[in-house]
Amino acid sequence: MSLLVVGSVALDSVRTPFGEQREVLGGSASYFAVSASYFTEVRMVGVIGEDFPEREIDLFRRRAIDIEGLERVPGRTFRWAGEYKYDLNEAITLDTQLNVFEYFQPKIPAKYTQSDYVFLANIDPELQLSVLQQIEKPKFVACDTMNYWIRGKIEHLKKTLQHVDLLTINDAEARELAQEPNMVKAVQAIRSMGPKTVVIKRGEYGALMFNEETRFFAPAYPLEEVYDPTGAGDSFAGGLLGYLASTDNISTETFRQGIILGSTMASFTVEDFSLNRLAFLTYAEIEQRFKEFKQLVHFEDLPVQPISTR
Ligand code: AMP
Repeated sequence: MSLLVVGSVALDSVRTPFGEQREVLGGSASYFAVSASYFTEVRMVGVIGEDFPEREIDLFRRRAIDIEGLERVPGRTFRWAGEYKYDLNEAITLDTQLNVFEYFQPKIPAKYTQSDYVFLANIDPELQLSVLQQIEKPKFVACDTMNYWIRGKIEHLKKTLQHVDLLTINDAEARELAQEPNMVKAVQAIRSMGPKTVVIKRGEYGALMFNEETRFFAPAYPLEEVYDPTGAGDSFAGGLLGYLASTDNISTETFRQGIILGSTMASFTVEDFSLNRLAFLTYAEIEQRFKEFKQLVHFEDLPVQPISTR
């Protein structure tokens, strides 16, 4: 099934305790699209400036991502600069330059208007909604956001959320959006805003899914080498949505499988800066890590009553 993503395509400058990279490929749509491209056909809507390097466009092409909706306009590409201290869970934003995003009016190519699965990656919620309004009856709409938009455009964000089936959001941002410190209550509040399923991303502590039926938790894969957590959340969403779209099934069971696959993809992203690892994976590597992941969380064989009554 077709999967459409709208989001940022960026040049990121990132500093972590393990090194620094300047003006490298980033953006929520880039991580999402490349991750999802291992599972299904992906279409990308976004904007870049005149300065966006051709070699990064080639990377999208090599992953067979449809970039007809990636517009190049006069001006500078969106830039984000961030830093992580030893707590790699928290990105400290040093600079956000919207540049070409400031005046962007997304125009959905005619062949995208029938997209079945849609991911509104982290971007101005007004743009998210304007994209959604151009799609005819999507089967499933997922969305991500961040504190920048929760603080700056809360009313627009709430309007967008009314049309969303799944929200993926960081722990702290969920509490901020719901204005509620207790996570279970925060999720209830968010579900009443529209999305019936909420996935809370907790960095190296994993991800939690809540829907009407169930709660499901996946830890993050314990890695020896973590260089740069940027894009982990979007790679996670790419694996999850890519899998849902490829099976064309949104049952709780498929979701659980998708969450493990999403966590698998995120684990590759953080092993190197930018998309240096994510964009060059083999299916054998993905399968191997997925198996290791299942082993890590597998305890269905344990007895239900391990404690004998005295
Ligand atoms: P994450 O998966 O949450 O680590 O997302 C990281 C990506 O989000 C980076 O590559 C940034 O380019 C992008 N980003 C950061 N701030 C914003 C923003 N305000 N709007 C859109 N994208 C952003």
